[in-house]
Amino acid sequence: MSKLDWQLGTVVSIVPETPHVKTFTLKLPRWTPHLAGQHYDLRLTAEGGYQAERSYSVASPPEQAGEIALTVELVDEGEVSGYLFEGVGVGDELELRGPIGGYFVWRGLPGSPPLLLVGGGSGVVPLMAMLRHRRGIGLHTPAVLLFSVRTPDEVIYGAELEAMAQADPTFTLLLTYTRRAPAGWAGYQRRLDAAMLAEVVGRFATPPQCFVCGPTGLVESAANGLQAAGLPPEAILTERFGPMGG
Ligand SMILES: Cc1cc2nc3c(=O)[nH]c(=O)nc-3n(C[C@H](O)[C@H](O)[C@H](O)COP(=O)(O)OP(=O)(O)OC[C@H]3O[C@@H](n4cnc5c(N)ncnc54)[C@H](O)[C@@H]3O)c2cc1C
Repeated sequence: MSKLDWQLGTVVSIVPETPHVKTFTLKLPRWTPHLAGQHYDLRLTAEGGYQAERSYSVASPPEQAGEIALTVELVDEGEVSGYLFEGVGVGDELELRGPIGGYFVWRGLPGSPPLLLVGGGSGVVPLMAMLRHRRGIGLHTPAVLLFSVRTPDEVIYGAELEAMAQADPTFTLLLTYTRRAPAGWAGYQRRLDAAMLAEVVGRFATPPQCFVCGPTGLVESAANGLQAAGLPPEAILTERFGPMGG
């Protein structure tokens, strides 16, 4: 059996993260440890045989043996995300294959450079797997998450990220609100730009390894900004979600 063979995962829990985002935890009969940043393919088959296949990053760390958590954002008129939101309950089975991907991964080896994670919307999912893995192995290499969200309601994993930042002085959470910030917010309130990225890079004593994930526009502006801040292209790994994704 290879990891590219399909297997049937059973949904063991569904947790709403925001009004448009849910986390599905699936128990897998042939679970193998993944690397933080990898994804699974999920395939739906309709009665007539029509199939639709999409990729979803693993949100859980490899330490969570036997199961994977997928965090799915409901996309307007989305075929697969719409079905997952409305048609899937605890106990249902879904066809999956993985883990897949060898590029956008963080292994968390001792002596790794500091981590700069930049995400927008559901692009935070693979970055969360990296942060959970970092916590799981007790590695305290400095890490910063710069997370672009539209409104306070849309901060995926908000409570867990806040708690992680409170508990670990080597982890910094930076949110930027692009449409509406909470009352009294003193942090960033705009889309990612070169000045913001230069400021964030300036927080590191040694050059960080960067992982950038989200919609295409955000990924492009973040990657350009990070290079303009002096980081070499090989220190910037990117993954695009969405219509131009792949
Ligand atoms: C490697 C990889 C990992 C991914 N991981 C995740 C993940 O962890 N969580 C997650 O929610 N998604 C993730 N995605 C995106 C996911 O694969 C689907 O593209 C997404 O769920 C939409 O599929 P759909 O069938 O619901 O929409 P579709 O029916 O394919 O599209 C419906 C409409 O929405 C547009 N659209 C498609 N995708 C997006 C999008 N992401 N944002 C805005 N508009 C879109 C389409 O152009 C179309 O107009 C990942 C993609 C890749 C390539």
